[in-house]
Amino acid sequence: TITLPVTTTDAAAPHVPTVLGVPGQINLDYAATAPCATAAAEAVNAILPWYASVHRGAGALSQRCTLAYERARQTVADFLGARAEDHVIFTRNTTDALNLLASALPEGTTVVTFGGEHHANLLPWPGHPLRLPVPASPAEAVRTLSAALAELRRGADAPAHILVAVTGASNVTGEVWPVAELARIAHRHGARIALDAAQLAPHLPVDITELDVDYVAISGHKLYAPFGAGVLAGRGDWLDAAGPYLRGGGATARVGTGTHDVVWNTGPARHEAGTPNLLGAVALAAVCAALQVADRDALRRDEERLVARLRAGLASIPGVVELRTFGADAERVGIVSFAVAGRDSSDVAAELGREHNIGVRDGLFCAHPLAKRLLSEASARSGLTLPPTALRVSVGLGSTEADVDALIDALR
Ligand code: PMP
Repeated sequence: TITLPVTTTDAAAPHVPTVLGVPGQINLDYAATAPCATAAAEAVNAILPWYASVHRGAGALSQRCTLAYERARQTVADFLGARAEDHVIFTRNTTDALNLLASALPEGTTVVTFGGEHHANLLPWPGHPLRLPVPASPAEAVRTLSAALAELRRGADAPAHILVAVTGASNVTGEVWPVAELARIAHRHGARIALDAAQLAPHLPVDITELDVDYVAISGHKLYAPFGAGVLAGRGDWLDAAGPYLRGGGATARVGTGTHDVVWNTGPARHEAGTPNLLGAVALAAVCAALQVADRDALRRDEERLVARLRAGLASIPGVVELRTFGADAERVGIVSFAVAGRDSSDVAAELGREHNIGVRDGLFCAHPLAKRLLSEASARSGLTLPPTALRVSVGLGSTEADVDALIDALR
């Protein structure tokens, strides 16, 4: 028998959308995959009886599913503050979204990133992307980008287009990047900017129009929705001019008998060939809708309190050293990484799981260049010999002080 999991959120906190969980299991690994929101589970349950093809059938069930899919797109567009000229394309996840964007860059585009990015925002870019050094502060990030773009523009062989690709919040340190200022600098130099919001969107509002970014990528499974649904939202011109990311049914307006006798659709359909992930889209949209009516300021305050408690607890344990890029007081989302001197990180994570039912992440978090560098900096700062990999604790909707205290007690 399968027993449905129960919600773990404190009913006394009505501003917190509820999430599913298993009693006795403490999930402190939201940054890898967040628990499923009740709203997402309900949305999936509601559409299941109607389950039929999307965009491909005339029957009532199919019509309903098509409508639900397109409504989901609109809900996500509203959640992300998309402009009229933006396309909102459903993808599998952030990795898929950024690879789609990478496939749609016009000829002669140079991509500029920082070395601290997640691999998903480091590896997809074609040609010779410019990888800027990891800055020591948000202000330094802005200065570094400004100088790099001025230099790129000055050269006789200046690229036809520049795309700056940055994260909104680091998946290693949780530190929040100065996205609006970076966007201003990018645009001042005639560049576009893509935001990897995989870790930002679950914690802080991400509004394309307000931040004035050109593209945003998110993952549903980090945003309390199921696996397999992500989004690339952003300016439609490059996306409509590029070849389709996936080739097949749904992406075509007309197909003739000749091999190349194909007219591709424009708009999201151009890049969404194949039968789409209706359940994923509907569930993701349900979370977006739930977050839009939630009191996000109150959620943020709760999270800041939890993170402060977590960091103070970690700092109180001899041999535990935090990883950070920007300094101790930088703004962060609910993610903290650290290492324990003299203890192998995978052993610590395994023991937390086995002995204490606490799930955390260990490793280099798909951001090898950054994590390795921060480990060696943390070692220099503390004077301690640290292991070659780190531990990461992350919190979100439904996380409690008791969860954090249990971790600190277990580590101690
Ligand atoms: N960017 C960041 C900042 C991330 O933390 C992650 C996931 N760890 C990704 C991109 C990739 O997300 P996904 O695995 O869902 O494609």
